[in-house]
Amino acid sequence: MSLELSVKGLSVKPSSTLAITAKAKELRAQGKDVVGFGAGEPDFDTPENICRAAKEAIDAGFTKYTPAAGTQELRKAVSDKFKKVNHLNYEPEQVVISNGGKHALTNIFEAIINPGDEVIIPTPFWLSYPEIVKLAGGVPVFVRCEASENYKISPEKLAAACTAKTKAFILNSPNNPTGMVYTEEELRALAKVIVEKDIYVVSDEIYEYLTYDGIKPVSIGSLGDDIFAHTITCNGMAKSYSMTGWRIGYTGAPLPVAKVMSSIQSHQTSNPNSIAQKASFEALTGPQESVPAMREQFDRRRIYMCEQIEQMPHVSAIRPQGAFYVFVDISEALKLSYNGKKVGTCGEFARILIEEFDTAVIPCADFGFDDHIRLSYAINMVAIKKGLDRIETFLKHLK
Ligand code: PLP
Repeated sequence: MSLELSVKGLSVKPSSTLAITAKAKELRAQGKDVVGFGAGEPDFDTPENICRAAKEAIDAGFTKYTPAAGTQELRKAVSDKFKKVNHLNYEPEQVVISNGGKHALTNIFEAIINPGDEVIIPTPFWLSYPEIVKLAGGVPVFVRCEASENYKISPEKLAAACTAKTKAFILNSPNNPTGMVYTEEELRALAKVIVEKDIYVVSDEIYEYLTYDGIKPVSIGSLGDDIFAHTITCNGMAKSYSMTGWRIGYTGAPLPVAKVMSSIQSHQTSNPNSIAQKASFEALTGPQESVPAMREQFDRRRIYMCEQIEQMPHVSAIRPQGAFYVFVDISEALKLSYNGKKVGTCGEFARILIEEFDTAVIPCADFGFDDHIRLSYAINMVAIKKGLDRIETFLKHLK
């Protein structure tokens, strides 16, 4: 016997976004006035009607195990939402409710990956994708997408990355960290490759309600029967309804995939939290006014932030069309020096900002782009103004 840890476990990197947020909290606890641009969650309270449904669930004693794949009422509500909002004809049996979007993704890859199967991940990417794929025994295959391509993967690049081992391709639109949204035309071209190569597309649509400038996101699975049969659609309550702590995500998948996901979940977590399922049912079927109200606030912050960044020296950003992040190119700044020392890396850029300017930003090396940072606008306008002023002061110091 030995007390060695698992190779698989050791291969996983801790989430650097959570680490930055923890550092900002620690400095605040020491009394520092830190502005945190790291937030991956809306800063609004969960809408009152949703909280009320949870309280009612507790009072009614809805506090026991539920079916593994979620309550029938919630699976039906998700199926109805998929049909009405996304034009995806998933029946309730094809829907699995999980403990958050991350857990839904974990179940998906556990259900479809055999050891050594490859999963294509357009880069930049949300940092959890490769780790989730590796934990399921898969091999992430990264395809770099440049700013000149709006950080989006082209059908040619997708086709070129496919091998005999390719099992799936991860599509995230609206995108974290870039804020880009794929057009219907772009999705149709990608769908053609996916069907031809006979691989799954895992479509993570968690930011679907947060799009701006009149842009409407399209679900790739809605573009025809062939692509629908190859699509696993993943979503969750966290970002649209400001329910990050409630931990409810959901998936629509071909029936055999949904069944395997449900079996896996039945052993891993039994079921998602019963009270949060009642709250999610209310979120999906109750009044929806809070969704556009939050989006409007995000939009005002987005515009302000982009206008400010456009005027700053040594950095640039493409205006995001969705989600709540600005992906900032700092490659010019990295070549310059601060107090006589070359900045060099995005990690060092972020370290100087937090230690000397009380401002937390996300260095994007773990998102596959080591000359970018991510700024979240899921914080209030006063903090945004203060934080951007500090970043500008730092940039003006660079020589
Ligand atoms: N997908 C993307 C692109 C995300 O950014 C996140 C959270 O940051 C998730 C999925 C998972 O969200 P949750 O597990 O909170 O539902």
